[in-house]
Amino acid sequence: MMHDSNCIFCKIISGQISSKVIYQTDLSIVLQDIAPQAPIHYLIIPKVHIQDFVACTDPKLILDLMSIPPILAQQLGQDAAFKLSTNNGYAAGQRVFHLHFHFMSGKSFSE
Ligand code: 5GP
Ligand code: ZN
Repeated sequence: MMHDSNCIFCKIISGQISSKVIYQTDLSIVLQDIAPQAPIHYLIIPKVHIQDFVACTDPKLILDLMSIPPILAQQLGQDAAFKLSTNNGYAAGQRVFHLHFHFMSGKSFSE
């Protein structure tokens, strides 16, 4: 499904709920995480509703999503280190079932 009316990220993407947008492409959007676990904690999200990484099979979309972290790192400064992760499934800690990659950076982060 392209859009899930019960999904918090779909509501943000459609403009029903506001959120700080850090960066976007035609296919993807980057939001500030509402409960940051690092000095910089962004969420890289496809604009279409896809449940998780395993369900994301479109090579064009995967390329779009994975081209974003280096751009964010460059915006933060040339030597910006970062961690990129996704929780695939409830047992892995996924709580929002719309694919997202956590991008974490900043002086002290461990997760
Ligand atoms: P998960 O546990 O599914 O991998 O990560 C969900 C992430 O979404 C969490 O880091 C949580 O803080 C973030 N989050 C949940 N609700 C909202 C929201 O309404 N807006 C934003 N910007 N982030 C959210
Ligand atoms: Zn969604």
